Amino acid sequence: MAMKEFKAESKRLLEMMIHSIYSQKEIFLREIISNASDAIDKIYYKALTDENLTFNKDDYYIKITVDKEQRTLTISDTGIGMTKEELEHNLGTIAKSGSLAFKHENELKDGHDIIGQFGVGFYSAFMVADVVTVISKSLGSDEAYKWESQGADGYSIEPCEKDAVGTDIILKLKENTEDERYDEFLDEYRLKAIIKKYSDFIRYPIKMDVTERKLKEGSENEFEEVKEEQTINSMVPIWRKNKNELTDEDYENFYQEKHYGFDKPIKHIHISVDGAVRYQAILYIPENIPFDYYSKEYEKGLELYSSGVLIMEKCPELLPDYFSFVKGMVDSEDLSLNISREILQQDKQLTFIAKNIKNKIKRELENLLKNDREKYEAFYQSFGRQLKFGVYNEFGRDKEVLQDLLLFYSSKEKKLVTLDEYVSRMPEDQKYIYYATGETNERIEKLPQTELVADKGYEILYFTDDIDEFAIKMLMKYKDKEFKSVSSGDLGIEEDKQKETEAEQKEHQELFDFMKEVLNGKVKDVKVSARLKSHPVCITTDGELSIEMEKVLSSMPN
Ligand code: ADP
Ligand code: MG
Repeated sequence: MAMKEFKAESKRLLEMMIHSIYSQKEIFLREIISNASDAIDKIYYKALTDENLTFNKDDYYIKITVDKEQRTLTISDTGIGMTKEELEHNLGTIAKSGSLAFKHENELKDGHDIIGQFGVGFYSAFMVADVVTVISKSLGSDEAYKWESQGADGYSIEPCEKDAVGTDIILKLKENTEDERYDEFLDEYRLKAIIKKYSDFIRYPIKMDVTERKLKEGSENEFEEVKEEQTINSMVPIWRKNKNELTDEDYENFYQEKHYGFDKPIKHIHISVDGAVRYQAILYIPENIPFDYYSKEYEKGLELYSSGVLIMEKCPELLPDYFSFVKGMVDSEDLSLNISREILQQDKQLTFIAKNIKNKIKRELENLLKNDREKYEAFYQSFGRQLKFGVYNEFGRDKEVLQDLLLFYSSKEKKLVTLDEYVSRMPEDQKYIYYATGETNERIEKLPQTELVADKGYEILYFTDDIDEFAIKMLMKYKDKEFKSVSSGDLGIEEDKQKETEAEQKEHQELFDFMKEVLNGKVKDVKVSARLKSHPVCITTDGELSIEMEKVLSSMPN
């Protein structure tokens, strides 16, 4: 048996591979399983065009076997297998992808289920194994071969026995060291969890013998441990299913299974786009605020899958900050992955998807607002603040997205209203959208500053949240109507009384000067006001900032 050496570059690459490409060791299982799935897919695609080949789904699966004594983990598949040459080419040459070549050769336009493309994933096995043995029998061949390697030194190939077509990958796990433990990859529960995490939506069954504690037959209290073959993955990605096939319950179950939250989501959004960038997504608007939501610890993001395989647990680029409460996942075949398939090489497609998602979420929230006000208000109770922060933080850039999602308490309606509702009720002579700031609605109601505006029959929006006025300042206008604080100097409705007040001002100037002196720098001026009805006095500002804003600003640490 001749020992063949890896090419020099390959040696270096392999070292790099093993030590630096992947962030987590557990990824090796995702890679080996992906290859097994590709191998089965290849038979599936061949059968589409080859009359002599039938693809009976039940015959195709992936099997994981653990041997604790031997410290081996075996991943077997009933896929297309490899000839001697293929073993040499595909496993003996790093960065050679037989799967990518297969896609090209067969001009598979729809072959996007095939996962492999870089020709490196296989070597991730050396992160956890000293020796990797591959036993394979190719479809249409009588011979089987064994490929074996201990890593950087090279590999050997020799004929061997194997009954069925397919491939066994046998990993002899490394011994534990002080810092690293490899035993975990012999543990059923750990393996199950890794499979669930990354490979749950592989289209073929991933089977494993699992130990179950069961009641002994005929006994009522005696248990025994039995090995039972189980299929670990759920296989059918719910996002690939047709929307009409799915019930609300299906979506809720998925939410729970994926641990997106413990609550019941207010709404789900199922997206399937088949355009320039193909992608599917299932998104949720949670009902409750996650406990760490308004803290620094909270990480926004959606799960990102590529062809059903998990790439990233939380991809932050997919959501704007103001929609950071949205949970869910995105799957796309069209991502430019980097070689580790853990991060993306360029974000063109991602930017496209993110923009698309943003608009969908906006539209769905608007629909909710229109069709189920009660639910929307519950949502707004939880996340409205985040939307307002969004307007402020983005300097109003995304106001098109956000302005129609905002709600404020109305002096007239005595409930939350949208800006659109406010504006549509404005009498013709009303120039501004009026608002008043305060700690509570009750307190605002009693503000003398609101009198004149209210007396005019104009509606006033009550801002009780610190962020409200800041956000509105960023919006500047809504439907060409500017916002105006009831405590601003010029309310735009006092003109008719101007002469009268000017005269009064003159008449009592001395008194006012005296008052100003007594107040000793606490006020800039004391003037006659045209806005008061039943209150003797009120405070106003003449600058950009309202009293409330000034309060917030002066309470902020410098
Ligand atoms: P990739 O999957 O990106 O092509 P890998 O390093 O994971 O790269 O695998 C290299 C190649 O080895 C694959 O493209 C495929 O041709 C071949 N291969 C790996 N595992 C199997 C398998 N279980 N059955 C058949 N071919 C396989
Ligand atoms: Mg691969």
